[in-house]
Amino acid sequence: MEVKINFSRKRIRTIGARMVGDTMHINAPAGIPQERLQRVIDKFKIRFEKRKLRQELNKTPETLQEIARRLNRQYFSVKLEIKSIEYSVHQDRIFGLCNHRTKNIKISYRLKEMPDWVRNYVIIHELAHIIEHNHGENFWNIVNRYSLSERARGYLLAKGLESNESEKDVED
Ligand SMILES: [Zn+2]
Repeated sequence: MEVKINFSRKRIRTIGARMVGDTMHINAPAGIPQERLQRVIDKFKIRFEKRKLRQELNKTPETLQEIARRLNRQYFSVKLEIKSIEYSVHQDRIFGLCNHRTKNIKISYRLKEMPDWVRNYVIIHELAHIIEHNHGENFWNIVNRYSLSERARGYLLAKGLESNESEKDVED
């Protein structure tokens, strides 16, 4: 990413940034310490890169939705209502999140690079949370309808991805 810095005499405290194509334009106060400027630029870089990644991942959100619809038909006798399902760039360790109240599902961006059968497991896992909020016996009975569940769990564990253990946070 190219960075162009404009030192402004008018701006006193704030540093502004915007993307024009692949170039980041920084507007910084004149006389700002180099170290502080670099720190802020690095933060903007991360933010813009994450935004770009998110846009790319979700360019075809209907694809993830289509997969979810297919798995819904295949593994859930009752047709589950899904409000939305999309990739999240904020989930580095958590493979999926399901808010069973709003029926919004978020899948870690890391799944995009993993085999389909692992991604399918994650989607089934999150769909099952619409019915069973916790990881109880009923929950695993549903998830294990998918024959590759056990293997997928091992795969995800090896990659350092955990299931969402904070479902109680969205339970109320
Ligand atoms: Zn779970």
